[in-house]
Amino acid sequence: MLRRTYSRLADWAKLSKAYPVIDHFFDCVVVGAGGSGLRAAMGVAAAGFDVACVSKLYPSRSHTIAAQGGINAALANCEEDDWRWHVYDTVKGSDWLGDQDAIQYMCQEAPCVVSEMENMGLPFLRTKDGFIYQRAFGGQSIHYGGRQARRTCAASDRTGHAMLHTLYGQSFQYGVNFFNEHYALDLIMQDGCCRGVMAMSIDDGTIHRFRSKYVILATGGYGRCWFTTTSAKACTGDGTAMVARAGLPTEDMEFVQFHPTGIYGPGVLITEGARGEGGYLVNSEGERFMTRYAPKAKDLASRDVVSRAITMEILAGRGCGPKKDHVMLQLHHIAPDQLAKKLPGISESAHTFAGVDVTKESIPIVPTVHYTMGGVPTLWTGEVVSPRDGDDNAIVPGLLAAGECACASVHGANRLGANSLLDIVVFGKSCANTVIFNLTKEGRKQPELAPNAGESAIADLDRILHNKGDIPIARIRERMKESMALYAAVFRTEDSMRKGVEIIQECYRDFSHAYVHDKSPVWNSNLVEALELRNLLTNALITITSGVARKESRGAHARDDYQERDDINWMKHSLAYLDDKGAKVDLAYRAVHQDTLTNEVESIPPAKRVY
Ligand SMILES: Cc1cc2nc3c(=O)[nH]c(=O)nc-3n(C[C@H](O)[C@H](O)[C@H](O)COP(=O)(O)OP(=O)(O)OC[C@H]3O[C@@H](n4cnc5c(N)ncnc54)[C@H](O)[C@@H]3O)c2cc1C
Repeated sequence: MLRRTYSRLADWAKLSKAYPVIDHFFDCVVVGAGGSGLRAAMGVAAAGFDVACVSKLYPSRSHTIAAQGGINAALANCEEDDWRWHVYDTVKGSDWLGDQDAIQYMCQEAPCVVSEMENMGLPFLRTKDGFIYQRAFGGQSIHYGGRQARRTCAASDRTGHAMLHTLYGQSFQYGVNFFNEHYALDLIMQDGCCRGVMAMSIDDGTIHRFRSKYVILATGGYGRCWFTTTSAKACTGDGTAMVARAGLPTEDMEFVQFHPTGIYGPGVLITEGARGEGGYLVNSEGERFMTRYAPKAKDLASRDVVSRAITMEILAGRGCGPKKDHVMLQLHHIAPDQLAKKLPGISESAHTFAGVDVTKESIPIVPTVHYTMGGVPTLWTGEVVSPRDGDDNAIVPGLLAAGECACASVHGANRLGANSLLDIVVFGKSCANTVIFNLTKEGRKQPELAPNAGESAIADLDRILHNKGDIPIARIRERMKESMALYAAVFRTEDSMRKGVEIIQECYRDFSHAYVHDKSPVWNSNLVEALELRNLLTNALITITSGVARKESRGAHARDDYQERDDINWMKHSLAYLDDKGAKVDLAYRAVHQDTLTNEVESIPPAKRVY
């Protein structure tokens, strides 16, 4: 499917005539305008460099807008706290697959980035003394595994909304050049370095070649590979797929987080903050079943634990409703004025999507795909790595990544709630710092680019647009989503995942017979969906192939046939390389960074002693 045979327009002369290329020059191009992209773009622009932000959506439509619960930082406003305890919880939550240098960097930086955003004007909720309000979230503890912490800073249950608008305003202030509704097609790679990115204006179909010394990928996750997900329609893993097509590895893609509380049916998220404010789960017998699965943390155990517990209740026949296929989240024991103040957004969602009045009734919920832990491997500096010559941490010059499309890897096998909004701003800022440092050191002059740079991206576009197939895009997409829901689910086995690989490979082959019925250059959503489907298929194939290979249960990767975590053989990151021709994935592995940046966090116990 990905073969680059230029069947219609045989060479660059013909291609560039059919698709005239508009060139742009910038010091840095950021692809994506969610929280991570905007934080990176405003950071580089604030230092006086020319920055472009290319986004397929208008920035305030990015998925960050949907984040509800909040952002973690050990501010100690509502309960004693320490960034070292935050590190401990994050390492433990990651099931020891997180890189501990990156985790230390993130947790130590957290109070600083939150206070920066407060100063930019982010309207956090306040305590009665005027400090930033902090709520309880899953997997948080004080004193290295002691009682529940309160570490999550919140702007009601609309934290992402407040954050995205704050960062968008700042990006304007510093003069970031926005290319909204421009779809990034592929990276421009030359001699192993990234030299820019190819994009198409969705508005008029024109082709844009962004030449720059640095590209920062901030394209978000790929939750749309699954049937039920909290992710927005645009979460199609374009950045990870671009990296895979460039022959670079993606990391730990088998780890996909199921959020325990999606509204039954549409999958819309009910934030973990609802349980942080005192809500709890009950089964058809009215039992608070989490007390059996996690006697200490109960409903605030980490997400993988709660999702598995719900699935096991349903499998044991204690699910609710006529099909016994969901459980209930109870909030009506909380005072109505507290619900109105702390959880207004989810009260509205429950009413709109489940017809439930949360002050009187429970909400039907079921685990739903929420977050993709894997992505483009990076160091804590945001620089993308691609192991070579025995060096696990060899950098790809010119390319950085941040946010959900990246794998720093701070979440390892399972992300803790409210650590992603933190990840996106910490590593967005870190990418900006790295680019500023390098540009200041090396200067802004860009090396020569081959005249036909970006040719393969245009040829692919042309081939997909004019393909003579007869299979509708939507049919392939539905098959992929249904198969991922069945074969890359909360519980996995060798047989089920192998079946999944076969079906996704068939979908791959079907894509070469796909038909784009709209040929117009103006707002061709049919073409954009085809390009997104190509990327989704790449992400799906890598996820499920990496899953088959990992013969253990760790974090969100729960296998019925290998139920134990195996630190001897599997405490390592999976690296997946896409085989361009055969719809096939080759796997390699990379060591987990088990050392923190400094020795200030001595109390992190080695994995084996804790479990
Ligand atoms: C419903 C929901 C609630 C959540 N709540 C929380 C929470 O309370 N706390 C928390 O920590 N985390 C939460 N998360 C997770 C967190 O919000 C996301 O992981 C995070 O916001 C992702 O940010 P991002 O910048 O990486 O990407 P996004 O915000 O997804 O932005 C991606 C950007 O990339 C652009 N893009 C993508 N592909 C292309 C392309 N081909 N060309 C050009 N542009 C492209 C898009 O236009 C967009 O601007 C939640 C997630 C969901 C789905």
